[in-house]
Amino acid sequence: MKSPVIVWLRQELRLKDHPALAAAGANGRPVILCFIRNTATDRPWLPGAASCWWLHHSLREISQKVQNAGGKIVLRSGNPAEEITSIAIESGASAVYWTNAIEPSDRKDELLLRAELEKNAIGSEGFEGNLLFDPAEIKSQSGTPFRVFTPFWKNCLKAQASMRAVQQSSMPVFSQTALESESLDSWNLLPERPNWGKQFDSVWQPGEDGGQAALSNFVHRAPDYEQDRNYPAKDNTSRLSPYLHFGNISAAQAFAATNQQNLTSEGALSFQRELGWREFCAHLLFHFPQMPEKSFRPEFSKFPWIEDDNALADWQKGCTGFPIVDAGMRQLWQTGWMHNRVRMVAASVLVKHLLVHWKHGQQWFWDTLVDADLASNSAGWQWVAGCGADAAPYFRVFNPVLQGQKFDPDGDYIKQWVPELMDLPKKYLHTPWLAPAEVLKDANLEIGKDYPAPLIQPDAGRKRALDALAQLKKL
Ligand SMILES: Cc1cc2nc3c(=O)[nH]c(=O)nc-3n(C[C@H](O)[C@H](O)[C@H](O)COP(=O)(O)OP(=O)(O)OC[C@H]3O[C@@H](n4cnc5c(N)ncnc54)[C@H](O)[C@@H]3O)c2cc1C
Repeated sequence: MKSPVIVWLRQELRLKDHPALAAAGANGRPVILCFIRNTATDRPWLPGAASCWWLHHSLREISQKVQNAGGKIVLRSGNPAEEITSIAIESGASAVYWTNAIEPSDRKDELLLRAELEKNAIGSEGFEGNLLFDPAEIKSQSGTPFRVFTPFWKNCLKAQASMRAVQQSSMPVFSQTALESESLDSWNLLPERPNWGKQFDSVWQPGEDGGQAALSNFVHRAPDYEQDRNYPAKDNTSRLSPYLHFGNISAAQAFAATNQQNLTSEGALSFQRELGWREFCAHLLFHFPQMPEKSFRPEFSKFPWIEDDNALADWQKGCTGFPIVDAGMRQLWQTGWMHNRVRMVAASVLVKHLLVHWKHGQQWFWDTLVDADLASNSAGWQWVAGCGADAAPYFRVFNPVLQGQKFDPDGDYIKQWVPELMDLPKKYLHTPWLAPAEVLKDANLEIGKDYPAPLIQPDAGRKRALDALAQLKKL
């Protein structure tokens, strides 16, 4: 009888295009799938609340699929190296396979597991599967990691022949060895008292089927992506980010689907470029593992941030007085996702107009985004704060009023998420505090009571941010 091979699942919660799974099940070897809930208390960046919601549903779905195919996913809590080695010994497995991670603590887990398995003469192998390229292999001409996106992506496109291709494989045979497993419900990943995730159910279908559906749905819309992608009310981006983060679909599948559609479509190429940004953020985290903790540009450690808990709380609640920002923050709270353009503006208001440290924003997004991703979130915040590897210069300060007027010209997005502004004429939708008294009265709106006055005037905020930058330069 062939000995089983264990596949350790983490952020590749799918059965299709799964190189580690395909290799494990090759030649009819029985496969054991396991997922370990890491309980180390000193581990940074444990999944946030919205991620736990997504994780629960993804695990539920994949468990069901595996059960339908005659297997069972082993769920355990604890230290991955110890738990997986013990599953391997209990089942007589010959090897453990996994998909290579990029988060520093996940990579540390891989090293610990490999060492533990070696001690017990059990084989191990990591496979690429979450990214388009192995981040260790993409290097600039001087052999160093890229720090700037454009040459990075050019290089990737040149190396397209070595991009990971979608791998077709049949469902493996699952091992019938009886192994102890915890119940998913006992992990309490879903929110209770209050159940703030109620709306999530109507917005998302987490898991592989939902990811495939979102991808096919997007492929038809891809030609319009380039012209529509900055307008939140059009809602025409792919919304694939949580599926990609949890590996419900692979980046290779997303890339290939838009390649087949129409190679010359500007929309498809522009979408692939965004997949390139995901790849770039992963590349940065892989090579600069301190990115989630420290500003990439060391001089920013001396930036005169302001500790302002009230401003932070108003921003989190979507009560800054800037309608486009408040719409985004409320979309985030209610659905676990925010449109990219609005993420940029909301983040900019926090770090520039309000001078609150980017790490506070990063932490809030980490907890509330269903697509919270250590690489993209950290790089995104550092990009906006001007302290990242390839960042928008700090002196370029988004004006939240102009951004709103430009990217939500009819205010449809604002009215969807900030209903108290529903009856305000278009002219004042982005500046409610400037509306004359009679206009406010007609719209049943009292500034300061029904909707806040801006935490800071746009121009004053800009000036204060530039003064802070000037102060930093003097140090
Ligand atoms: C402050 C800030 C924080 C962010 N935090 C995250 C995060 O935690 N997780 C996350 O996945 N994205 C993050 N992003 C990037 C981006 O906002 C989201 O990936 C995008 O909005 C997801 O929507 P979509 O799937 O419809 O994207 P689409 O426009 O359809 O893009 C396709 C895919 O490309 C990737 N992508 C697109 N834009 C970016 C980008 N700027 N950086 C990295 N990857 C990108 C995503 O995987 C996305 O699903 C952040 C951006 C900012 C400015």
